Formats: sequence, C-alpha cells, structure tokens
Amino acid sequence: MGRTMAAVFNQLEWHWWPSYSAINTHRHSQRGACINLGPCNTGCAQGAKASVDVTYWPIARQQGVEVRTECRVREITLDATGKADGVLYVDAVGVEQRLDACVVVVACSGIGTPRLLLNSKSSAFPNGLLNDNGLVGRNLMLHPLAYTEGVFEDDLRSSIGPHGCSILSQQFYETDTSRDFVRGYTMQILRGAPPVETAVSGYFMRQVPIGAEHHQKKFRRLFNRTAGITVIPEDLPEPENRVELDTEHCDSSGMPGVKVFYRLGENTSRMLKHGIEMSKQVFAAAGAKVTLSFAPVKNTGWHLMGTTRMGNDPATSVVNRFGQAHAVKNLFIVDSSIFVTAGAVNPVATAQALTLMAWDHLRRNLNEVMSAS
Ligand code: SF4
Repeated sequence: MGRTMAAVFNQLEWHWWPSYSAINTHRHSQRGACINLGPCNTGCAQGAKASVDVTYWPIARQQGVEVRTECRVREITLDATGKADGVLYVDAVGVEQRLDACVVVVACSGIGTPRLLLNSKSSAFPNGLLNDNGLVGRNLMLHPLAYTEGVFEDDLRSSIGPHGCSILSQQFYETDTSRDFVRGYTMQILRGAPPVETAVSGYFMRQVPIGAEHHQKKFRRLFNRTAGITVIPEDLPEPENRVELDTEHCDSSGMPGVKVFYRLGENTSRMLKHGIEMSKQVFAAAGAKVTLSFAPVKNTGWHLMGTTRMGNDPATSVVNRFGQAHAVKNLFIVDSSIFVTAGAVNPVATAQALTLMAWDHLRRNLNEVMSAS
C-alpha cells in the first residue's frame, strides 16, 4: 500500500517520505522486531515500539532513579526565597506525602502541567505557580485532524504494518501566500484496518452486512484494499483556547479537575478543508474510490500543546528556551505544553528533543540553577 501511494505522489510530483517511526525492524538489545500486526496505540508487547518504558526508563533506573507509580502530585511548593523545594503528592494508598527537591522537573503534558501549576497557589503566586502573567493554561493547541479513506480494486496488503507509519507528504507544509491560510499541514498515509475491525466498523457504518453477503460482496472489497490519509494541521496559539481548574469536580485525591475551552480556529479550518481536497486528489489519481471524508475527526484532542509556552520574554511566556521557568529558576517543564505552535507533525519527537536540551542545560548549570532564586 505504501509503495502504491508513493507512486501516486510521484505521479503528482508531490513530496513524500517514509514516516519516521521509532520502531525496530530487527531485534535490538532486549527488544523484539515489529511483527506488523498494528495495535501500537494500545502498547507493543514485542517491545519493538520505542516508548520510554523500554528506552529511557530502564537506563534511568539502572542509574539509580526511583520510580514511584500510582502517585499523584498535587502541588509544587516553594521555600521562603521563592525557590521550588519539593512536591506534595498522594501515594498509591491515598496518603499525602512530601518529597523534598532541589530541582523540580514537570512533564505532565498540555493539560496536566497547567493543572498542577494552577493548583500550586502561594502568597508569591496567588493565581497559580508561574501564572503572574496569566499565561498558564492559555494557548492550548490540539491537532484537529481531517480524514479521507479510499478503497482500491487491488489487494494492497494494507492491513499489515504499524499504525500510522507508512509514508507522509509535506507538500503543503509551508506557508504559501496563494492559499487562504498560513502555515500548513502534513498528509499522513495510514494502513487499512485489520480483519475484525474491518468487519465490525464496516457493520456499524452499514458498509458490511452480516449474513450471506458478508464475505463475497462486501468484506473482501474493503479488507486489504483501503488506505487512509490523515491531515495534521499546524494549529496556532489562541489565548482563549485554554485550560482552567474545575473546583466543582475533583478527583479521588481531592485535587480539582480541569475545564477545557477550545474552539477550532479559522486558519486551522481552512487547512483541514484544503487537506481534504488534496487527499481526494491523491485518491482520484490513484484510481481509488473515496468512501469516507470528514473534518474535524471527533475526539482528536490527544496532542495537547502550548499551555506553558516558551519564549525569551517573561511577559509573554512561562519558560525560557531550556524549559526553565522564568519566575522560579529551579523549576523546569519538559513536555509539549512549552510549544509555541503545534507544528504539523506528531509532537513526541519534538518534546523529547526539547527535553534532552533542557537536561543538557540543567546538567551543565546545576549549581547555578540550585542556588538561583
Ligand atoms: S505493529 Fe505496532 S504493536 Fe505490533 S510489533 Fe509493530 S510496533 Fe509493536
């Protein structure tokens, strides 16, 4: 399927490239090779997918890092000089504990990080930690997606492979002033569904009946013959898109929940519309029949970015380029909440790169960071 789609992009003279995926094709160390069945989103029993539980964490633990699981940090505390001096957390059996620290590093993503900061109120930060400029929780960005699916006459073996890791195109990634939007998007070519999902989702979408016609007439026309194109737009920051504490709905540890306010921006809507038109053009050139096409895809708020943005100016940002809080020098944030735009790619690689940069900075300047107030 990937080769077929790549040939179509060549025919259109549009950019394409294999998706960059941190997945083993061969056994490496203790981790197995990918077996191409595809349930990557629910975890990889092979260990082929390079998620941090099989990459960074085992090394960190060997180096002496202790992982306390099933604990919820409720608050970051400050000492009299304004430095972070630890956290209060609720442990696995519901007992509040305190952990002292000379440096605090937060990695709770675009919702959890502002939630924790907003819940960490003190006389120095009555509106929430680092929130003296009112930016904590603001500028929430997501990746609202567009999706188009095409069905081919030929068997493309499209049910094989990791999820979302075939090829991608960044033909429309950069700003082009002839279009009605700024920035752009990635087109990610997705594999087709496995057999059970083809049957079940096909049944619910009234494409595949149960009964005599199930196999010959419908199932076989879809299975291994479908491909999808997801459009990932570069969502831009808008202050009104935000996260706030919800004191009326607390979790089982008594910590306030969150209210999320998000409205699809005009620029992002235009990108999605353009992306759908271009996706249909790809399938038309491929001779495939478009069976599904819609935007935004429901419930796509899984990439959470921008709510503690980075920048040089403390008046317009929360952390500096090393993820170091402007207002509390021994507090770092190393997740996608520090992004300034969403980028038109999945955020994990960028978040990891920024994290490595932050740790390099911290390692080189540890004494200075610990003594600063
Ligand atoms: S298809 Fe996904 S879940 Fe399966 S082995 Fe490969 S990476 Fe792991």
